[in-house]
Amino acid sequence: MSSTSSPTLYDIGLMANAPDPELDRLTRLAATIFGAPVALVSIVEPDKDRQYFASALGLPEPWATRRQTPMSHSFCQHVRARKEPLVIGDARAHPLVQANGAVTDLGVVAYLGAPICCPNDEVVGSFCVIDEEPRDWSDAQVASLVDLAAAVTGRIQLLGSLWTKDRAIAEANRFERLLGQAFAAIPGRMLMFDADGRLAVPNRVGRYVPVEEFTPLIREGATLSDLVHSLAATGVVLDAQADPEGWAEAQLEKYRSGEGTTYRHADGRVFEVLQSKTSDGGTVFLTHDVTELHDAAAAAEEARAVAETANQAKSEFLARMSHELRTPLNAIIGFGQMLEMDRQQTLTGDQKEYAEHIIKSGQHLLSLVAEVLDLAGIEAGRLKLSIEPVSAKAAISDVLKIMAPVAAKAGVSLRFDDSQPDLQAGADVQRLRQVLLNLVSNAIKYSRADGMVAIELTRRDDAVRVAVADDGIGIEAGQQKHLFTPFSRLGQENSAIEGVGIGLALSKSLVEAMEGEIGFESEAGTGSTFWIDLPAAREAEAALDAAEAEAIGAAAGGYSLLYVEDNPSNVRLMEHLVATLDDVRMYAAPSGSIGLDLARAHRPDIIVLDLNLPGMNGTEVLRQLKAHPSSWNTPVIALTAAAMPNDVKRGLAAGFYRYITKPLDVNAFLAAVSDALAARQAGGVQAAGGVDTASYRPLESERRDIR
Ligand code: ADP
Repeated sequence: MSSTSSPTLYDIGLMANAPDPELDRLTRLAATIFGAPVALVSIVEPDKDRQYFASALGLPEPWATRRQTPMSHSFCQHVRARKEPLVIGDARAHPLVQANGAVTDLGVVAYLGAPICCPNDEVVGSFCVIDEEPRDWSDAQVASLVDLAAAVTGRIQLLGSLWTKDRAIAEANRFERLLGQAFAAIPGRMLMFDADGRLAVPNRVGRYVPVEEFTPLIREGATLSDLVHSLAATGVVLDAQADPEGWAEAQLEKYRSGEGTTYRHADGRVFEVLQSKTSDGGTVFLTHDVTELHDAAAAAEEARAVAETANQAKSEFLARMSHELRTPLNAIIGFGQMLEMDRQQTLTGDQKEYAEHIIKSGQHLLSLVAEVLDLAGIEAGRLKLSIEPVSAKAAISDVLKIMAPVAAKAGVSLRFDDSQPDLQAGADVQRLRQVLLNLVSNAIKYSRADGMVAIELTRRDDAVRVAVADDGIGIEAGQQKHLFTPFSRLGQENSAIEGVGIGLALSKSLVEAMEGEIGFESEAGTGSTFWIDLPAAREAEAALDAAEAEAIGAAAGGYSLLYVEDNPSNVRLMEHLVATLDDVRMYAAPSGSIGLDLARAHRPDIIVLDLNLPGMNGTEVLRQLKAHPSSWNTPVIALTAAAMPNDVKRGLAAGFYRYITKPLDVNAFLAAVSDALAARQAGGVQAAGGVDTASYRPLESERRDIR
């Protein structure tokens, strides 16, 4: 019997030689009603060449014991084949059955049979009454037999339904047993709540679930709140001991919001509770022991903290040592230089050479100390960068100027195409120079006589790439992975080439701190190319382009503010203030003349000027700003400690847009900035003092610049 079809007559036990009392009742009833000596429930099985009697009354032996006859003796086969009643008054004269074995062997003369069906409604045989005498079956008798046959079919189908139901129950039981075993195998405890928040099937599922602390609490209908409060009250939960009610409420709140939680037992074990919704609106909670995981994570965190502290301590130690070393080193080099000068001409040639060695070694040591200090500073997170748009060409030119004598001494030629367009990178100009110096110096050091070092500046998507290529000794493939490890010199330790193996490690840290990347390609005996990629400063380029096009306006996408101030802490304060404004970028200039340069290059939307500047004072800076076409109508705010009423009056008369005194009133200052930006956007700026700034007169010295 396949699992999807209806049960067969064998499945329901009808063919098992066991009498079915219900069918036997019906055959008895039929024999009585029809006054017939024989009544049968006959199942016709042509493939087995038999008709089997599920119930038989009045059959002679041996048929009664056999409960079957061959097909040669079957009238019922015709009922099955025709699917309709068969009415025979006298078989001996009936062409369909007069040759049937039953007529001669069983003495069948009259026959009345009606179809019966198996559970899937297929006609499988006949319910019949038989007489040894001819009969004249009436229509009413035929109809009655059809009714009785239907009752037989009903009985068969009922047995089929019972069988199907029993099987479904057996299957459900089997599945429940499996589910129970699966639950038991889960390394945790599982509780199910129905849509009303009540514990569901605790007797069936709960008994498979090891829930030590819950076991006494589990009863059908218990709510989650009951359970959590009861659990808190047992005292097994460490976290709940101080305030069981409070802990229970907090826990329930987490469950309500769908959050997973963890809690710790008094015995030290940690449990995680996971929950998930079921399709009928209920919730399944899975609680499992995560002590090991939790302890491992805590141990890892502790180890990380210890390592961090050790690293900090190391960095601080290095930093302190480097500072301590610097002072005596300066003395050593200084006195060495005085010796070398030999004002009194008292030194012998040897002694002069010794002095040279002292100076050279001192300088070497000093640069090592500086690099160690840098590296330690970066590791300790003390590196301060001032990232701004930097001209890559200018940085390269600076480095080439410094390295030219070194290259010449080594017989190495330096190449850079100075005619190409400039690219702006977002970088700290000093640190960029330091990295480039290191790469170019390495390229020269590890070059060969008559070698060449070429520097290339290219744009790569969002990055500006500077590549330093040499045709020097190159680096063995096996050594390359140690290239950026501090103090590894890859076999150069014993060579005549000076170094300590820290330059590349430091360069990598610096480039990465500037959000760039460093890399290389190298082949032993052929040469190396080291490159750095730094983020391209798009805004800066756009601003410069705009300046070149004589357009007066903000840097792309926002406003810019130039702050001319020599005191670094004031500049830092301003950086913080400006950071609170949307879309305003800041340039800082430490002196009036740099301020004027920046104003011309970047065309800021607003300028904030300290009046007490080294060299050119603020009033003079304002005068020159007013006299230049790029800045004559830029609002300039004075920010100064000169706070006497007369100072203010004079300042406004000189053409300052606002005159703000120190200590800075942040709100007043931000209001002035936003007024100035608004006025700027509206197209004109009027000095607060009523001074007309709209008529600009160039200074004599500036006339040449005006195109
Ligand atoms: P240093 O030059 O002081 O030894 P670096 O950190 O700058 O330290 O370089 C580490 C090592 O990488 C060098 O000792 C050298 O072996 C190798 N190296 C660096 N640059 C080059 C280069 N351009 N060509 C060949 N080897 C190089």
